[in-house]
Amino acid sequence: MSKDTCIVWFRRDLRLHDNPAWNAATNSGCAIIPLFIHSPNEDGKWRRGAASNWWLHHALKDLSTQLETHGLSLILRSSESSLSELTALTLESPVKAVYWNRCYEEQSINRDTLIKKALAADAIEVKTFNGSLLFDPLKIANKSGLPYKVFTPFWKACLTLELKAPDTSPANKSVHNAPQELKSDSLDALKLLPTIPWDTDMAQFWQPTRSGGQKLLKQAIAKSSHYLEFRDIPSDDGTSRLSPYLHFGQISPTEFHHEVLTHCTAKDLAHNGMLRQLFWREFSAHLLYHFPHTHDQPLRNEYQSFPWDYDTELLTKWQRGQTGYPIVDAGMRQLWKTGWMHNRVRMVASSFLVKHLLQPWQEGAHWFWDTLVDADLANNTQGWQWIGGCGADASPYFRVFNPILQSKKFDPDATYIKKWLPELRNIPTDQIHAPWEMEPLELEAAGVKLGTEYPFPIIGHQEGRQQALDAYSKFKDSL
Ligand code: FAD
Repeated sequence: MSKDTCIVWFRRDLRLHDNPAWNAATNSGCAIIPLFIHSPNEDGKWRRGAASNWWLHHALKDLSTQLETHGLSLILRSSESSLSELTALTLESPVKAVYWNRCYEEQSINRDTLIKKALAADAIEVKTFNGSLLFDPLKIANKSGLPYKVFTPFWKACLTLELKAPDTSPANKSVHNAPQELKSDSLDALKLLPTIPWDTDMAQFWQPTRSGGQKLLKQAIAKSSHYLEFRDIPSDDGTSRLSPYLHFGQISPTEFHHEVLTHCTAKDLAHNGMLRQLFWREFSAHLLYHFPHTHDQPLRNEYQSFPWDYDTELLTKWQRGQTGYPIVDAGMRQLWKTGWMHNRVRMVASSFLVKHLLQPWQEGAHWFWDTLVDADLANNTQGWQWIGGCGADASPYFRVFNPILQSKKFDPDATYIKKWLPELRNIPTDQIHAPWEMEPLELEAAGVKLGTEYPFPIIGHQEGRQQALDAYSKFKDSL
């Protein structure tokens, strides 16, 4: 008798380890159709950006290789509609059930609800799981049953909940392939890679595979006792760099959490800031789930009327790393070349955009979305609203980062700046944070002509700060 067949629909869970949907499907004894649907138009204005597409290409290739070790072929389908693709597949092969791990963004929830209904109408079971967060966002509420808007109580509430261990059960089972050959698009046909080869640096910086993530996780554990000491130093590899692996699900947050807990000493754990960051990730997901409009509107509604001063020229200079502030420009160039930016510099660069330059945070969020390999709607939204003062538990708008002091404090020997702005490499370390303050002869000796090799600052720090404060007081007065 032929076996029942089921589909495992991979989405942002591109792994076989600790993957609840995959585990449940394989444990059911069904023959498996592993499926990925590329359907960018369903994501509307948050369709994956170029850097994320690059990552996805490699993550799918890697997943496909992992599946081959089980004798399975990943079925790739490029489509306008996931529903029509799933329906087509159920007509091509008699499918008993579809398994997937949930995505918690509103657009995905709406789509998945429709799909669930349509499949149920055809008597196809749908089994869904949480494979991307430590906790389902709808399961956490404050004493009044409302979502949290402040991180610390949210975090404390999470700490009282039982954390599941990673589920690695199916390794003991043989996995069965679907009985017939199914049509699959080639990976190249998804056109995820750039046509102009701007990805050379990214390929050197990242190993976008499950084993690349495992390597970084091992390193992260080894350095976790020094995390708090080094996490703010952008030239140091003090943070895990696991964000894209978490976003695409090559490493699960449960695995991350479990591995750190298992391998760290009690003393290290008492100060383990890295695990705390995982709860910021949970908090972001919680916020976006409960306040889905915040991907492009402020959580604090009064900020709708904030007097931004939209200017494409300023925005373009910021995007290109041409602001004249070395720490900001180094960050923007790191982003462009590697698809990633250190968190401390994300804060300085984003603050500079929304405060010194008075550009709407949404513009910055879109640029990050297109250029980050870890672009994540929940984290990006929370990051930008935090800096824009309009989100949950946000840094107040009137607190303006001083990019020169931040630079001196967190990149004191200018290793980071010199790496990403080689044109400034001959400037003495104590002067590099504000090169416009140098004498012309000093600049000449360093081989830098401001306005030619490197720009003059697009705005003075005091002027930018004052402009931000004036806008803020105008905004407060208008409430
Ligand atoms: P680690 O310090 O090693 O932290 C471990 C993990 O915790 C990270 O991989 C990440 O998943 C999570 N995490 C860490 N910091 C935060 C945070 N502040 N908020 C939420 N989760 C966090 N992160 C993204 O993953 N995607 C984004 O699109 C994104 N956009 C951001 C935009 C702005 C303006 C700012 C200020 C921050 C943004 N962040 C974003 C958060 C943070 O900068 C990155 O998660 C972090 O730099 C990733 O590096 P890491 O993996 O070495 O982090």
